[in-house]
Amino acid sequence: MKIDGAGGCFENRMYEVSRQVAWKFVKECIAEMDLAVETMDEKNCLASGKLQKDEGKGIFAMLFQNNHHKLFQAAVQEADDAGTVQVVFDVHKKVPTAYQWSKQDGEVKDFYERFDKKLEEYLHFAVCPHCHARVDRQVKFCPNCGKAMQ
Ligand SMILES: [Zn+2]
Repeated sequence: MKIDGAGGCFENRMYEVSRQVAWKFVKECIAEMDLAVETMDEKNCLASGKLQKDEGKGIFAMLFQNNHHKLFQAAVQEADDAGTVQVVFDVHKKVPTAYQWSKQDGEVKDFYERFDKKLEEYLHFAVCPHCHARVDRQVKFCPNCGKAMQ
């Protein structure tokens, strides 16, 4: 579900993966996206902070001072179905902007693109239990050391 509104964008997506794995990738995405993390709640898989990128210019930046910084919230929540989690990424401004011409989903799109890529790689590759090489999940024998993947 995606909501793109005044000065912000909220989106949540469902993934069939463990909460630990999803949370690990969420943290990796946050680190890559140059977001200033202010709170990191490991127990509840919840992070929040602000975007480093300065959104306001000139008179608007002066008028709204810190308020032109966009804030973000990221969370991984357990879904009703076992083995399914909900990944939430929300970008909004402290003060909703009444007039917004441009779409506000840039960072949200960026986040899910990164997250989906990480997850796809994770689901596609397995780590050999003998030599720790990253190999295709489909193979029965490790192409690196030749041993069985089990
Ligand atoms: Zn191996």
